[in-house]
Amino acid sequence: MKNILNLPSPLVALQSHFLNKKAVNVWIKREDLIHPQLSGNKWRKLEFNLKEMRRQGKRGILTFGGAYSNHIYATAAAGRLFDFSTIGIIRGEAILPLNPTLSFAREAGMQLEYLDRTTYRDKAKAHKIYQARYPNYCILPEGGTNTHAIPGSARTAAEIREQLSRLPDFICLACGTGGTLAGIVAGLDGESEVLGFSVLKGDFHQRDIQQLLLEANIKDPKNWSVKTDYHFGGYARRTPELDKFIADFKRDYGIPLEWIYTGKLMYGIFDLIEKDYFPKGSSIVVIHTGGIR
Ligand SMILES: *Cc1c(COP(=O)(O)O)cnc(C)c1O
Repeated sequence: MKNILNLPSPLVALQSHFLNKKAVNVWIKREDLIHPQLSGNKWRKLEFNLKEMRRQGKRGILTFGGAYSNHIYATAAAGRLFDFSTIGIIRGEAILPLNPTLSFAREAGMQLEYLDRTTYRDKAKAHKIYQARYPNYCILPEGGTNTHAIPGSARTAAEIREQLSRLPDFICLACGTGGTLAGIVAGLDGESEVLGFSVLKGDFHQRDIQQLLLEANIKDPKNWSVKTDYHFGGYARRTPELDKFIADFKRDYGIPLEWIYTGKLMYGIFDLIEKDYFPKGSSIVVIHTGGIR
């Protein structure tokens, strides 16, 4: 299964005059290079959910997402690559023609259904309805975040430890549901300080991540926190300043970012470096969770 995936994902050092001047050492963990269609943290979160699906003898995965969801895209790609059935429950009304995410999903063999926003929001109810309708499928919540997502994401931390021969002072990543952050924390032993950068408005992450760790039976070492100042107005909102940062970063470092997750993350990190948030000599690993396509 894994030989078509680029694992362990590359860990590359960032070099620039600015970083030298600030005396910080920065690496990027290129989870975006794991697979062109199964990029980044979505593969990590799926890995053990697929194992669980096979263990239960189910024929596929049914999951939820918005019309632009990277998780819907990745689940559809995984279904085609690893030969299992997929159903995507999409929030809201059908809009035709299908956007690139949904037309990819359908071409990959995903069955698409639409769910009104009110029912969609009531996650427990939606889960129940679809489990009754599709008993042969494992139901995965939006974003692929559940208990089984944790061990796959924990692998990212283990790989960093192997690749650096130690752990860095800081590990930084973008937070949507916070599932990836919970997995990274689970893969550490309280070492490193983990900084999440929320791409949504609000401060629900603290509670959600604590809950996930609890459900996964992981003692919370409390070496993590979530920055809430870099969402640029909310989920999928963008500004000319953010777009310029992403273009400059591509030019200066040759690494692509997008404006929903990794652009906001990297903007936040560079802002913190500029403000001398990280002590001189700090080692910082930034997780590129993917999302480029
Ligand atoms: C989904 C996604 C995230 C958010 O991951 P969570 O586990 O939900 O916090 C971050 N980056 C990219 C590129 C994503 O697609």
